[in-house]
Amino acid sequence: MNKKIKDINARFILDSRANPTIEVEVTTGDNTKGRAAVPSGASTGALEAHELRDSDSSFNGMGVNKAIENVKSTISDSLIGMDVTDQRSIDSKLIELDGTDNKNNLGANSILAVSMASMRASANQQNKQLFELFPNIYGQPSLPIPFMNILNGGAHADNSVDIQEFMIVPFGFETFDTALRAGVEIYHVLKKRLKSNKLSTNVGDEGGFAPNFNSSTEILDEIMQSISEAGYDPGVNVSLALDVAASEFFKDGFYEIEGNKLNRQEMADYLINLTTNYPIISIEDGLAEDDWNGWKYLTEKVGDTTQLVGDDLFVTQEKILQKGVEENCANSILVKVNQVGSVSETIKTMTLAKESHYTSLVSHRSGETEDTFISHLCVGTSSGQIKTGAPARSERTAKYNELLRIGEKIGFEQFNIQSFGRTQ
Ligand code: PGA
Ligand code: ZN
Repeated sequence: MNKKIKDINARFILDSRANPTIEVEVTTGDNTKGRAAVPSGASTGALEAHELRDSDSSFNGMGVNKAIENVKSTISDSLIGMDVTDQRSIDSKLIELDGTDNKNNLGANSILAVSMASMRASANQQNKQLFELFPNIYGQPSLPIPFMNILNGGAHADNSVDIQEFMIVPFGFETFDTALRAGVEIYHVLKKRLKSNKLSTNVGDEGGFAPNFNSSTEILDEIMQSISEAGYDPGVNVSLALDVAASEFFKDGFYEIEGNKLNRQEMADYLINLTTNYPIISIEDGLAEDDWNGWKYLTEKVGDTTQLVGDDLFVTQEKILQKGVEENCANSILVKVNQVGSVSETIKTMTLAKESHYTSLVSHRSGETEDTFISHLCVGTSSGQIKTGAPARSERTAKYNELLRIGEKIGFEQFNIQSFGRTQ
């Protein structure tokens, strides 16, 4: 067995939005291989790690040739010969090679692809499943509660709906496969209802439907109906969750939503009102990424009972999460590996979240590939929650399908969440 990295190859592949992205293959001395591909966001946080694009005439400026070149030259030169099972040293070396705070030099996409591919090679080398290599931050490996985005708006759809994601959360089931089944059945009922109401059943970037509705409450009513009609109990075994992605419509200190201009308190109260009228257990990015006072207000008001998830707010970065903890903003963090750009940093952020009594919701990006790394990340760390789109479009179902395969190994029992509000 030779655990030393012998070769690192990089190539472009296409993501689910017809943009190039980087895929890396790490090979060890005994020819064990590990492969990984990097996702890409559309409603990105301002402080996310830098995604290196070519910005030239090819692929509308979205090419990743520079990122590929960085892997094949600078990164390969330094990593070849390193022990592939020493993830921390590999990631430290990558961070050191880049030398900037936000991976501006080599690009978070090139660094992350190498980081993830090395971990895959390491798992293969040890004859283990990828999830077995993660620290069990929230407990023993377990299958998560899926957050399924079934109606799309915002930057992910061409309709005029301002809130980005309307999700169903089948939390009240003993096993993951029955929860998944509930989500799928509701998705189909929703499709049928939209069709019979002559509404579009075309899907958005994350596989959810993207028809035009007049208001968020109309959408929430539609989803409530679909849950009931599919034979489930809203609030009892299937709840609702939102990703407001509020930074996208925060302009000059006001939230421009559904034809209204709301100040921060009005925006928070609007959301609080929704949680009173609907079984919404989780709200992501309810306020903008730089509206810390708004976050504080919302957290004080409903943080004990509602999961308040910081996505654009924390961008998976330990330092920013630390600020959130100190200022009592949010009680949960969205975890996106490419917002921070390496596996080890992702783990550090999740560890801080756990220590600070914040939940972690592991997430895909709107631009995805068939890579299923996040399924393993969420099982291994036992975050208990995953957000990976509707149960449609192969880049989304790939993650659910991998969870089904993992279930055969560890059992299908679904993470048992006591409360979606502030944890003890
Ligand atoms: P993104 O959207 O991948 O386009 O950033 C997902 C999200 O906002 O959670
Ligand atoms: Zn989000």
